[in-house]
Amino acid sequence: MPSTRLANLIDGRLQAPLDDRWLDVHEPATGAVFAQCPDSSAADVDAAVHAAQKAAPGWAATPVEERARLLHRLADLIEARLDEFAELESRDSGKPVALAKRLDIPRAVSNLRFFASAVVGWESESHAMETGAINYTLRRPLGVVGCISPWNLPLYLFTWKIAPALASGNAVIAKPSEVTPCTAALLGALSIEAGFPPGVLNIVQGRGAGTGQAIVEHPAIKAVSFTGSTRTGASIAATAAPQFKKLSLELGGKNPAIVFADAELTDEHLDTIVRSGFANQGEICLCGSRLLVQRSIYDQFRERYLAKVKALRVGDPQDASSDLGAMVSSEHFDKVMRCIAQAREEGGQILCGGDAVKLNGRCTDGWFIAPTVVESLSNDTQTNQQEIFGPVVTLIPFDDEAEAIALANGTGYGLAASLWTRDLSRAHRMGAHLEFGIVWINCWLLRDLRTPFGGSKQSGIGREGGGEALRFFTEPRNICIRY
Ligand code: NDP
Repeated sequence: MPSTRLANLIDGRLQAPLDDRWLDVHEPATGAVFAQCPDSSAADVDAAVHAAQKAAPGWAATPVEERARLLHRLADLIEARLDEFAELESRDSGKPVALAKRLDIPRAVSNLRFFASAVVGWESESHAMETGAINYTLRRPLGVVGCISPWNLPLYLFTWKIAPALASGNAVIAKPSEVTPCTAALLGALSIEAGFPPGVLNIVQGRGAGTGQAIVEHPAIKAVSFTGSTRTGASIAATAAPQFKKLSLELGGKNPAIVFADAELTDEHLDTIVRSGFANQGEICLCGSRLLVQRSIYDQFRERYLAKVKALRVGDPQDASSDLGAMVSSEHFDKVMRCIAQAREEGGQILCGGDAVKLNGRCTDGWFIAPTVVESLSNDTQTNQQEIFGPVVTLIPFDDEAEAIALANGTGYGLAASLWTRDLSRAHRMGAHLEFGIVWINCWLLRDLRTPFGGSKQSGIGREGGGEALRFFTEPRNICIRY
């Protein structure tokens, strides 16, 4: 049995699951089991909900400055253990430690700090009537809410949900992915040290179909904020709808990166375009997996792009020189390899990668895939329509703006697009025509936490970030006073 058994956080105490059932947690770089996480049942969820219901009125009545202080304190505790968190996140998810240290953990700290500050300065509307009355909007917390997050950016997305939920005065039942449960478990332990009252934050670990489903079904949970796949999102929506729960669904994407002949393609810009396809092994919902390139520069661009992709180093996530680590699980490794096989079957030319990578030493049995670039596939192939969520990018030529827009919009998804051009008018025009929740111009993954974040079409419903998240986690009530 591995030495580390993670605990649930319920009612302010670290607890084993009631049924004493456990799930193995693997290290993707080695394939070895290094921990176990609770395989919590509906009874554990119920215990967490009872604790949350007890805690919710007191937390809602706690002055906003005190709620903010506790969130800042939690952020401080995580920041003080940045290295430990980054190493754990890497071990659990396969991502390079350096990436976790640069991106995931600092961003988790920022999420907590951002919403702690945002809620203190949050304003609500008032509407005066000339006939002698005034309306104001009271925003009340919902009570007990559910937060369900995926495995690709484990602590980053976990805090993206729990921070606004807690800041706006709700008691929370949160579930990280069973594939990457470790950093949320550590955060849970630190939340006790930070001084959160028992029951305000509950973390129930377990499988999506068991624990996650129990959270979505529980009648006392008033809202669910979910980030994950489109398929699971649809199932959650079907379960939650008859109970009229509020839902925020951040789902998958098949994002285009669009490069025009007039783009300023410095080395730095090209590095960003490469990163937009392969950062975190391509396991970021915002990754640009379809690279549309204007035909007049296609050959020349392809040559420069491929040289950079071929120089990416797949290696032990603990090694500072590794650009890409391991895929998160053997199941996901198999899925991505099947997608590459399908790209070949559909007639795709593999320009680089296309295979698993065998490493030596401690990583011999790890789940590594070479960064893969494919061309000669039309936009309607499965490869260009379905989310792969791995280090696979297709190259697609286009002739003009109209074709670029048609190709970019031509999937069922609508999460994010990036556009590379020096033509400002084109940038504005296309920004208005691209059917995506986020359009980046001459950049990628540049995030301002105040902006609305989310997708359209099959990429989700609702927006998170800034005031959108605080609005989601509260119920507006109009108070009308005649004077
Ligand atoms: P899943 O949909 O499989 O799982 C997401 C979370 O939901 C996990 O915690 C999972 O638990 C849980 N879950 C699974 N089934 C249910 C259910 N029936 N009821 C309630 N909860 C359930 O997604 P992945 O973890 O595979 O994450 C990858 C996906 O997330 C990709 O499609 C990606 O695009 C998307 N994503 C979207 C983002 C966005 O902001 N739009 C950001 C990041 C990722 P468990 O894992 O334990 O089974």
